[in-house]
Amino acid sequence: MSVNELFNKFHEIASSPKEQLDTYLAQGKEVVACVPIYTPEEIIHSMGMVPFGAWGADMEVKEAKRYFPAFICSIMQSILELGMTGAYNGVSAIVIPSLCDSLKCLGQNWKYAVKDIPFIPMTYPQNRNNEVGKAFCRASYEKVIQDLEATTNTKFSEEALSNSIAVYNEHNKVMREFSEVCSKYSFISASQRSDVFKSAYFMLKEEHSSLLKQLLEEIKSMPKEETKKVKIVTSGILADSKSLLEIFDNNDMQIVADDIAHESRQYRIDITEKGSSLDALAEKFSNMENCSVLYDADKKRVEFILDLVKKHEAQGVVVLMTKFCDPEEFDLVPIMRACKEEGIQFVQIEVDRQMVNYEQAKTMIQTFKEML
Ligand code: SF4
Repeated sequence: MSVNELFNKFHEIASSPKEQLDTYLAQGKEVVACVPIYTPEEIIHSMGMVPFGAWGADMEVKEAKRYFPAFICSIMQSILELGMTGAYNGVSAIVIPSLCDSLKCLGQNWKYAVKDIPFIPMTYPQNRNNEVGKAFCRASYEKVIQDLEATTNTKFSEEALSNSIAVYNEHNKVMREFSEVCSKYSFISASQRSDVFKSAYFMLKEEHSSLLKQLLEEIKSMPKEETKKVKIVTSGILADSKSLLEIFDNNDMQIVADDIAHESRQYRIDITEKGSSLDALAEKFSNMENCSVLYDADKKRVEFILDLVKKHEAQGVVVLMTKFCDPEEFDLVPIMRACKEEGIQFVQIEVDRQMVNYEQAKTMIQTFKEML
């Protein structure tokens, strides 16, 4: 397949999660919905099931309003709406982590609103990088395994988890390489970049890696070009809105790196096997950093974003602020202050799954570009 055909394939998958879900179900596979931000997909994969990303969708929320107040993030609202309106029919269970207050509410509401898809909680420790945190994390994984075994027709084994860890490490590597390639080949649009990241949630990781490797091979055989676009680093929870990505593309903006939870934050840390596979998985979580939902007293994430800007010679930072997301709002001021001190241009754009009018975002991005 050519580069365009491969990008079209990723686009097709990223835009049709329901078809992807139905295809896996028709193949007789059990599917488990995985809610952001971090779900132990490796465990689900190792039990022979398909971990399926559930990050909500750009839509009008109606039914979920019976359970949520209006001032809660629209990712949560739209996940519940999709559950209540049957988009996840056929899914064996949904795993919901507890990394922010909204996520905690989602789990409790799900139990009442979507009775036919069992809710499995995943409780993470915030003080994670010590022996107690790791033991707590491992115990939470064991509880998830128990719940998965009770609700599905599957069994857990450490050996199978070890194989799945290898699949996920390989996928991490390919995704990191793709992000680097996007910083070097400016013909890749923001929309195409997003399609690759988004499609990963609706495919088995071995299938996604294989397709992406084909794309990388094709791209790397092309001559490198000097970019004439404006190089930016994006940060936030989500950056998959079609309208927003079009604004980046229409303004010749090239995303040279990201600190987006739905994108690169997922692929930063590999699992180093030592001891049991489950211990290795807990070790991975203990090593995770630079994310708004992970306790970070020193706000090291700020320095991490500045380093991304310097490494990729970006001209500015675009923070995509998910409306009503407390963890991201807490980090916003330190990021903004640090950019100012370093003389890095910065803009904050509010995003929301229910947003239909992007005129304000368009004007802000156009102005930002002119400032650069
Ligand atoms: S971290 Fe923010 S965007 Fe994500 S679920 Fe929590 S409030 Fe919503």
